Amino acid sequence: MSITDPSHPMYVPEENREIARERAKAYVEMVSDYLEIRDTIPTGFNQQEQIQMNRKRILKVLGGNEREWDDWNWHFKNAIRDTAILSKIIQLTDEELQEIEKTGTQYRWSISPYFASLMDPEDRDCPIRKQVVPTILEYLDKKEIEDPYAIIYNSPAPLITRLYADRLIINATNICSVFCRHCLRKKDIDTVDRIYPKDEMKAALQYIKDSPEIRDVLITGGDALILSDDYLDWILSELEKIPHIEIMRLGSRMIATLPQRVTPELCEMLSRHNPVYLNTQFNHPKEITPEAQNAVDRLIRSGVLVGNQSVLLKGINNDKNVMKKLVHELLRIRVRPYYIFNCKKLQGIRHFRAPIADGLNIMENLRGYTSGLAVPTFIITAPEGKGKTPLAPTYLLNINRNGKVLFRTWGGYVCEYEDEIPGENAG
Ligand code: SF4
Repeated sequence: MSITDPSHPMYVPEENREIARERAKAYVEMVSDYLEIRDTIPTGFNQQEQIQMNRKRILKVLGGNEREWDDWNWHFKNAIRDTAILSKIIQLTDEELQEIEKTGTQYRWSISPYFASLMDPEDRDCPIRKQVVPTILEYLDKKEIEDPYAIIYNSPAPLITRLYADRLIINATNICSVFCRHCLRKKDIDTVDRIYPKDEMKAALQYIKDSPEIRDVLITGGDALILSDDYLDWILSELEKIPHIEIMRLGSRMIATLPQRVTPELCEMLSRHNPVYLNTQFNHPKEITPEAQNAVDRLIRSGVLVGNQSVLLKGINNDKNVMKKLVHELLRIRVRPYYIFNCKKLQGIRHFRAPIADGLNIMENLRGYTSGLAVPTFIITAPEGKGKTPLAPTYLLNINRNGKVLFRTWGGYVCEYEDEIPGENAG
């Protein structure tokens, strides 16, 4: 039977098709502002010409070669921490150089050559540059941390942070491949590199052994992938010996900032430890590059699922179209958008804070306007370490006493829904 046959179950009369076409036009109209600009938003794929030029220039400045560029240890050893080198990579005025020096006396800074290659050398508003090049705003922020309790009352054992019943964090190191200017852990970054040794790790593992309700452990830092493959293998193996541990997670920004770290050896080791999840942090579509895509491919082939936790950052991604492009690019490289964090009120990062209304506006423009798979949860971390709390636009308008639910749809229609359950309210 043909689909044009009126008795076919999928048959649609032509006049109804016309209604559907009009509806489709209305849907497209709703996203027309995004469609107009989506191809102009810079990504790590459409900026390849400039990134390759930057890479050549950086290799020349640092005296490296193409083979070394693929070696994460080379990037680590040659991390840019010096204004004389930085000024050969991006344009800096004398005033900016002085400001970086001054801020550097208070907060250290470090940029992997790979991440530096994503910066526009001429654009002061480049979203990559803003994340890693210090500004005087950090130095000038002398207001104390507004919520010190979140830090000091949530560590029941060395290296452990615990905010929930069934999961906790092991803070294994304070080292990262870049020191993000918006980092929540700015104080832990400190001035000295630390990888906490096995002795200290054993106390953390003992606490987990003694806590049978813990089923999920996040190893982070700093950056979990700073640990050597052997040390990470040891921690994962020790966790696997604990019968109540069901899943292990790694917190690493290196997928975005130094994807060369995802070596075949690392992946082989991780593949022996199922299930391992990895949460990373891409904040702008410019960070989604072919190298990042390859790193994610290797992780997925090793059985590691990758999720993304962005931070809402003023002047970087507090824009509905930039964030929509970011979540689309993430899905293209098989990373699931997971959270958007509201930036906290910590000393030295306050200037990155965007209004919560910006986060809600982004969520309003994602839900329904794009695939549900692309929609992360917008999170505010409650004061005093009381945990991540989702914030979302309001869709529920009313639940009245007659079992009717009043709500609005993503497209703005107000609907009433009979919430009747068969068998209930009978008689
Ligand atoms: S990678 Fe993570 S922990 Fe390290 S500086 Fe950036 S935000 Fe902080």
